[in-house]
Amino acid sequence: MANPTLLILPGDGIGPEVMSEVTRVIDWFGAKRGLKFDVSEDLVGGAAYDTHGVPLADATMDKAQAVDAVLLGAVGGPKYDDLDFSVKPERGLLRLRKEMDLFANLRPAQCFDALADFSSLKKDVVAGLDIMIVRELTSGVYFGEPRGIFDDNEGGRFGVNTQRYTTEEIRRVARAAFELARRRGNKVCSMEKANVMESGILWREEVTWVHENEYQDVELSHMYADNGAMQLVRWPKQFDVIVTDNLFGDVLSDCAAMLTGSLGMLPSASLGAPMESGRPKALYEPVHGSAPDITGQGKANPIACILSFAMALRYSFDQGDEATRLEKAVEQVLADGVRTADLMQKGDGKPVSTTQMGDAILAALDATI
Ligand code: NAD
Repeated sequence: MANPTLLILPGDGIGPEVMSEVTRVIDWFGAKRGLKFDVSEDLVGGAAYDTHGVPLADATMDKAQAVDAVLLGAVGGPKYDDLDFSVKPERGLLRLRKEMDLFANLRPAQCFDALADFSSLKKDVVAGLDIMIVRELTSGVYFGEPRGIFDDNEGGRFGVNTQRYTTEEIRRVARAAFELARRRGNKVCSMEKANVMESGILWREEVTWVHENEYQDVELSHMYADNGAMQLVRWPKQFDVIVTDNLFGDVLSDCAAMLTGSLGMLPSASLGAPMESGRPKALYEPVHGSAPDITGQGKANPIACILSFAMALRYSFDQGDEATRLEKAVEQVLADGVRTADLMQKGDGKPVSTTQMGDAILAALDATI
C-alpha cells in the first residue's frame, strides 16, 4: 500500500524552527517504527506572500486538498502587519480552513504532572487533567449574515452579527465529539445558552437527537456556557469531551488551554468530512503564533508542534498506540527536567534550545523500543 501523505507548511517566525524538530520525529517513526510518510513541503503565510504575492498559492491549496493530512507551523509577523487585509498571512490559514471545510476544531487541554505548578490554579485541580474541547469552526456568529455596522438614521450607528446554525452543522460537529468520546472517557458535555438563545435551543435539541439516535452508549450532559466557564476553572477534571459552538468554543478553549501552563505546549487539530480514504480532511497545528520576539534564537518550544503530529497519528492515521508513545516520550522528557525557556521557573537550571528539546524527545522515543 502507498505511504500516507503529509503536507508540511512551516510558515513564518518560529514555525520553521519548531517544524524542523517535527520532521526529525516523523523520520524517527519511519526509521524505527516502519511508519513511513510521503512528506512534501510548501509555503504559507508571509513566506508564501514573499514568493507568490499571496499568503497561499492555488497550487498549495490543491496539494492540501489532495494529501491525507496537513501540518502547519505558524503564520504572521511584524513584517506583514501593514499588508492589505486580503493578503495578510492569516488569510492563508483561513483559506485552508474554509476550503477544506474543517468544521471541528479539537483543542486538548492536558496537564503533564511535571508542569502542574505552571497553572494559575491549584496543583490538585489540574494535575492529570486531560480534556478535549471540540469547537464548531466554520459557522455561527463569526460567519452569519446579516452582519455589519449600520447608520440608524438618527445620528447613531448599530452593529449586527448573526448567530445562525443549521441542523446539519450541529449534527456533524456533535458526531465528531461523540466519536472522540468513544476513544476517550466516553462522556460528552454540550455547552450553549439555551436559556436565552433560540440557536442554543436548536443546538441542544440536535445534539440530543444525535445522541439518542446514534450514540446512546456515550454519556451526554448539557450545560449553559457561562456555567461551563465557571466549572472549567472550578473542577475541570469533571469533563472529558466538551462540544460547543464557534464563539463559546473560542473563549472556552483558550480558558481551558491556560489551565495547563505554556502556549508552547498546546497542539490542535481541525477536522472536516471524511475523504474517499475514510480519513477526515485534517489540519494539525500548534495553538501558538509565530512568536517574533524569540524567532531565530533557538528558544522556541517545539512540543506544541510535536504533539500536533501526535494528534495526526491518532486522528488521521489510526495509530493511537504510536501517538501515545510520542506523548509519553514528551512526558518523560519533562519529568526529567528538560525545559525550554518558556517552561522555566525561578531557580530552575539552564534552558535547552529548540534542537536540544528535539534531541531529548528522540532519545526518549529510542528508550521506548
Ligand atoms: P504568539 O503565540 O506568537 O506569542 C505569544 C507569546 O508566547 C510570545 O511571548 C512568544 O514568544 C510566546 N510563545 C509562543 N509560542 C512559543 C513557543 N513555541 N515556545 C516558546 N514561547 C512561545 O502570539 P502573538 O505574539 O500574539 O502573535 C505573533 C504573530 O503570530 C502575529 O503576527 C499573530 O498574528 C500570529 N499568530 C498566528 C497564529 C497561527 O499561526 N495560528 C496564532 C496566533 C498568532
